This record gives sequence, structure tokens and C-alpha cells, in this order.
Amino acid sequence: MTAQILDGRAQSAAILDRVTTQVAAFVAAHGRVPVLATVLVGDDPASHTYVRMKANRCAKVGMQSRRLDLDASISTETLVEKIRELSADPEVDGILLQHPVPDHIDERAAFEAIAPAKDVDGVTRTSFAMMAFDEGGFHSATPGGIMALLDAYDIPLAGRHAVVVGRSPILGKPVGMLLLARNATVTYCHSRTTDLADHVARADVVVAAVGRPALIRGEWIKPGAVVVDAGYADNSGDVEYEPAAERASYITPVPGGVGPMTIAVLIDQTMKAAQARETARAARLGLTAATTGPE
Ligand code: NAP
Repeated sequence: MTAQILDGRAQSAAILDRVTTQVAAFVAAHGRVPVLATVLVGDDPASHTYVRMKANRCAKVGMQSRRLDLDASISTETLVEKIRELSADPEVDGILLQHPVPDHIDERAAFEAIAPAKDVDGVTRTSFAMMAFDEGGFHSATPGGIMALLDAYDIPLAGRHAVVVGRSPILGKPVGMLLLARNATVTYCHSRTTDLADHVARADVVVAAVGRPALIRGEWIKPGAVVVDAGYADNSGDVEYEPAAERASYITPVPGGVGPMTIAVLIDQTMKAAQARETARAARLGLTAATTGPE
């Protein structure tokens, strides 16, 4: 068997096309452009590249991005204050804190300074809890992108055994919960898992989210399984691509699989945040009109 490619570039382009139309309608209706604020701490070249790519995608769909670049030596307190200012800023619809942040910063405290209504990267406890309770809210961007990619190819999930390798709060853990919400039977593997090969070999769907090239050997993949490789380190995914593609039914390439979907979800969720803020504003104005009565 040679796997069909799960083409993240094509699917992300389709999402961005839809958002472009939505942005134009939003501007016509509200006379303003949705705004994504990006916060970058320090000068890690990869993080700079990611933030630039996100700003480029914003421009492509007609949104505005506002960039806040901060010195690597910034304290947690100052960073939290800056993010709270963006949370309170009426012109900002979505906030992205590019991570990882430098080691001395309390990343969780910085994430929690993002107002849940603007948490378009889905990193706050509120977003996580809403996702875990299956109550909507903003998905963590990469897990949301993985689910959108699986759905684009009509991959069935109910009753299937999904093995998620990695359990970080922004990737492994939430993608497992999203798969569970779709009635997959989910196994989490992590650095203390013994017999990783045996777990992977029983998977109908494998999601690799580690960041260790070729950790998952092609020969472990069950024939016909779906392989989603979110890992990215040293220009490589976590899965040994060629031998895995020989056995899988579907597989994501690296690059061109999960990565483009992550940005598309971020932009899509920024559009949703802008729309939700305008809906809330209209409701507030309606309430004011109702309580003050006709003039
Ligand atoms: P992370 O926070 O470092 O988490 C890595 C996870 O891998 C941890 O849960 C860790 O287990 C587990 N792990 C480490 N060694 C392992 C092993 N030998 N066997 C099984 N599990 C092992 O990383 P992350 O932020 O989740 O990112 C993971 C990867 O995804 C990275 O390559 C990152 O670049 C990539 N990524 C891609 C995108 C995208 O848009 N494509 C977005 C985000 C991240 P413990 O919990 O036990 O330590």
C-alpha cells in the first residue's frame, strides 16, 4: 500500500480562501479590519520566522497584524502586563504569544494573561477546559488543524484506536481529547511509556507530537493506519516517512502537512473572535437601547 497524502497546504489554502471572503464581509458590515496581535519574546530565529509567516497570512486574508517584539530579558511581570493591555485593547481581536518563551519566564502566567475571548491560539486554561468539556471555545491551533485535516479527508474516527505520542498541554494532550470527543479510543504515549512500538502497532490513527526525528519507525505502523506527524525538529518529522508511507492508508508530509493547518486555524479563530466580539457589542448596544427606552 502507498499512502494518500494528507495535504495540509491545499486544505489550509481552502480555509484561508473562506476566511478572505469572511473578512471582506466583516469589513463591509463593521467598517473595521480584524486584528491579530502577536507577541514575540527574544530573538530565536525560528520564532521570528513563525511570527512573520503568521503576519503574512493575516495580510493575505485582509486582516491586520500588530506585532509586539520584546527583549529576551523581560520579566514575567512585565510580559503579563503587556499581554493584559492587549487583552483590554478594544482594537485587538486575537492574541498570539509565540512559544516557547525564554526559560526564566513563567509561560503559564503569560498565557493566562490572554483574555479567553481573544485566545485564538487556544492556550489558556479556559480554552482547554471548554475543549475538554466539548463546549466549543477556541481550540489549541495545532490540534484544531489536525482535526480539520482528518475531517477534510473524511477519515472516520468513532470506534477507532488513536495513539497519541506526546502529551504537551498545547499539542499532545488536547489532540487526544479532541479525538476522544469524536469517539475514538485514545491511548497517550510519552517519555515514560514502555513498549512504544507495541502501542503504535495497534493504532488505527497515529498522531506523533514529540520533536524527535524518526522516533516512530515505519515498520511499527499497522497496515492501513492513518499517520499524522506533527513533530518538527532538524527539518524532519517524528515518523520515518518512506517506510511508514508504504504501510499507511493516509500520511501527512513534513513539511506541508500539519504546519500549514496550524496557521490556518489561528487565522480562522481570529475571524471567529472578531465576529463574536461584534455580536457581543451589538447585544450590549441592544440591551442599552432596551433599558433606556425609545427617544
Ligand atoms: P514538548 O512540549 O517538548 O512535548 C514533547 C512530548 O514528547 C512530551 O509529552 C514528551 O513526554 C514526549 N516525548 C519525549 N520523548 C519521547 C519518547 N522517547 N517517546 C515518547 N514520547 C516522548 O513539545 P510540543 O510543544 O508538544 O511539540 C512537539 C513537536 O511538535 C515538536 O517537534 C514541535 O516543533 C512540533 N510542533 C509543531 C507544530 C506545527 O504547527 N506543526 C506546532 C507545535 C509543535 P513527557 O511529557 O513525558 O516529557
